[in-house]
Amino acid sequence: MDAIAPSATSAALPPLMPAPLKRLLESRLESVIQREPDRGDASRWRQWRLDDRNWQVAQPVTFTPYASARPCSARCRFCSETLADGGAHAAVLRPGADYFDRLRAALAALCGLPLSYSLSGLETTDDAAWMLAMLDALQEHAGRSPVENSVLYSNGAGFAGSAGGRLIERLQGFRLNWLELSRHHFDAGTNQAIMRFRDGQLIAAQACFEDTLAQLSRRLAVKLVCIVQQGGVADLTSLKAYLDWATRQGAGAVILREFSQLGPAYRDNVTSHYIASTRVAIDGLLAACLADPEFTAHSRLRHATSGYYFWNVVLDFRGMEIIFEASDYTRMHQRHDSGRVYKLVFHANGNLCSGWDPRRNVLLGTEPAPTPITLMRAPRSADESPRP
Ligand code: SF4
Repeated sequence: MDAIAPSATSAALPPLMPAPLKRLLESRLESVIQREPDRGDASRWRQWRLDDRNWQVAQPVTFTPYASARPCSARCRFCSETLADGGAHAAVLRPGADYFDRLRAALAALCGLPLSYSLSGLETTDDAAWMLAMLDALQEHAGRSPVENSVLYSNGAGFAGSAGGRLIERLQGFRLNWLELSRHHFDAGTNQAIMRFRDGQLIAAQACFEDTLAQLSRRLAVKLVCIVQQGGVADLTSLKAYLDWATRQGAGAVILREFSQLGPAYRDNVTSHYIASTRVAIDGLLAACLADPEFTAHSRLRHATSGYYFWNVVLDFRGMEIIFEASDYTRMHQRHDSGRVYKLVFHANGNLCSGWDPRRNVLLGTEPAPTPITLMRAPRSADESPRP
C-alpha cells in the first residue's frame, strides 16, 4: 500500500483498530499513514468528470480490471465471491468480444487522473491470454497518464502452469511493484483443506509451490499472504512455524490477515458460517506476538496504516516485513455508496464502477451484462483481502 503523508503521532491510530490494541501500540509506532483522505482535505481529492457528471475522487485511488475470464482455479472456503448480500455478481460475468476496447475507453476517460493498479478479482493468472492483453492495455495507459504503483494478488496457479515463465517475464517488464501470493499454511495438505485447488492444479503440491515461489522471487518482489483461521495459522505457535517456513523460502514479507468483518448486510450461507466459525482475531495475534519475549527480541514495530476500510500494523522481524491487517466490509460499502469515489473497478460487463458490484455505483457504461452463469454473490474481489 502506498504511503501518503506519514504522521508520527499515535493519536492518529486507525479508527477501526480495537481499543486494547490502540492502547498497546500507543507511542510505540514510528508513524501512522493516513491513507483514507479527510473529506475536507482538498489536497487529497481530485474532481473528475465522467459521463457528464463531476466526481470527487480520493487520492490515492486504485484501479482494478476485475479478473473473471474463467472460474477460479481454487475454491477457498472463505472466498468472498461466495458470500451473499443480494447484489449483482462480478465473478460470474465473462468478458465479451469488445472487452478490451471498453477497457481502453475507460482508461482513456481516466487519462490524467493519478491511479495505482490493483490487479485482482478471481485468479488473474488462470487465463494467460486475458492477463497478457490486460497488462498491455494498462501499460499503454501508464505511458500517457500517471500510475503510481501496481500490485497483483494471486493464488499462484498460473505461474505453475505452462505459461508461468512468460507471465513472470511479462510482470517484470510491466514493473509490478509487488505480488501478493496466497498460501494459508506451510503444510500442503492443511493448505489444500482451506484453498481447495481444483484437480490438476500443480500449485497445490508443496514442492511445486516452493519452486514457483523461488522462481517468482528471483524476478519480482513477493509478499506471502496468510489468512489466519482455525484449522490453519491460528495462534502464536502456528504463526511462528509459518514464519520459520517463510524464512526458509527466502520470503521478504508476510501479510497476516483476518477475515473481513461482514456486518448485517450479508445473509447466512456456507461461506459466512465458515468465516464465523473459524475467525481468528488479528489484534489478539499481534498482542500475543508483542507479549512474547522470543518474538520481541527479533522484531521492531514500524508503522500503522489507516485505510478507508482497513488498518494494518507493520513490523520488522528477522529481516522480514510482517504486516498484521484487518478490514470491515460495512465500512467499505458505506464509503462506496457515499457519492464520492474511493475505488475504481472495471468489470467484465464493460462498466466502470466505484465498487465491486458491476451494476451499482456505475461511473461509465450502461451496457447490459453478459448472462450470469450462477447465482452466487460477489461483493468484492477475491481472497478476502483489503485491496485498496
Ligand atoms: S479467495 Fe481467491 S484464490 Fe480463493 S477461491 Fe476466491 S478468488 Fe480463488
